[in-house]
Amino acid sequence: MNEAVPYSRKERDDLRAASAEGRRLDCPRCGLPLHKRRIDTPPSVGYVRERTWWLCSGCGGSLVLDTSPTGPHS
Ligand SMILES: [Zn+2]
Repeated sequence: MNEAVPYSRKERDDLRAASAEGRRLDCPRCGLPLHKRRIDTPPSVGYVRERTWWLCSGCGGSLVLDTSPTGPHS
């Protein structure tokens, strides 16, 4: 069985926090650095929201993060 098992909620929270702090994302199970895949948003989508897909080559864990642009402008 090599079915990819999704990360648990705590694992996802940890990775999300690491991403928010600009730290490298390592797999909480294997310790391997996650590979980043860009998800292209179709132009028909009205709002712009960047999504990044993170994959672990070790255990097959994956995570999608919304990296909505945040800045000093409100
Ligand atoms: Zn892993």
